[in-house]
Amino acid sequence: MGPEYSPVDGKTYSLFGNSDSTSEYYETIRMLADKIQVLNTDIQALIENIRRFSLKKRILKKALINTESDNQISVILNIIDPYLKKYTGNTEEHLRRLPVSKLFDRRLATSREQYHLYMLEIELTNRRFSSDFLSADRKIALMPYCLQDFSANCKSTRNGFDYQCKHCSVRCFQNYASEILEANNIEPYIWMEGDMKKLAKFSLREKRTLGILGIACIPELTWGMRNCWKNSIPVVGIPLNANRCIRWFGEFFPNSVDLAEIEKLVIAPVAR
Ligand code: SF4
Repeated sequence: MGPEYSPVDGKTYSLFGNSDSTSEYYETIRMLADKIQVLNTDIQALIENIRRFSLKKRILKKALINTESDNQISVILNIIDPYLKKYTGNTEEHLRRLPVSKLFDRRLATSREQYHLYMLEIELTNRRFSSDFLSADRKIALMPYCLQDFSANCKSTRNGFDYQCKHCSVRCFQNYASEILEANNIEPYIWMEGDMKKLAKFSLREKRTLGILGIACIPELTWGMRNCWKNSIPVVGIPLNANRCIRWFGEFFPNSVDLAEIEKLVIAPVAR
């Protein structure tokens, strides 16, 4: 037995697209990142440019319509949009129904163009930080609570930085992800109460480098990775296969993550 790996639909996105697995998504995003890196070989400048523009929703919409422009963001959006839109099909309906009071929530109000740039940014950031993360003195992984098996009575307990899985369910993605991470010398935590600032300060004091691997839905992961970068922490990340937690649906639905991709990320440095 293993965790059920069948397509799941998200409030705004699903990495399954029209497929039975998420491998096609990962092949696509790698192919797109390769193409985009040809436009600008300075990966840091590329990510910074993507970040700067990804805040400007209206400009992104115009940039996508303007297929003739040689502006870098317009070119990037027009390359990635035809490939990535099959993964973000529910976004517009979600935005139409989003109450005005929630329009200021950056995560909930993420537009389709922003999703596509975030997908690219996560892949490029993995390329940028993969070796630094793997060579950090201490590596920790932060997994979201919503990835657990909701049919089990979760036995995870607080241990060190935060909660850790006790491997009680063979249907649980946290269980398998934790095993992969532990086998590769990465401390796996279910992020509930852990204080990142304290951890970063402690590592600095101890003169030990810290690396973070994040697992979260695309908007959360992107903002978390930016925060780590801002604090000079090498960060890599894997998006949840869809956004299905209480924040998006008002209740929790079972979710999944691509375990093979976690393995790839923690075993071999991603090619730059
Ligand atoms: S396998 Fe781990 S995370 Fe999953 S329900 Fe059991 S203790 Fe909780």
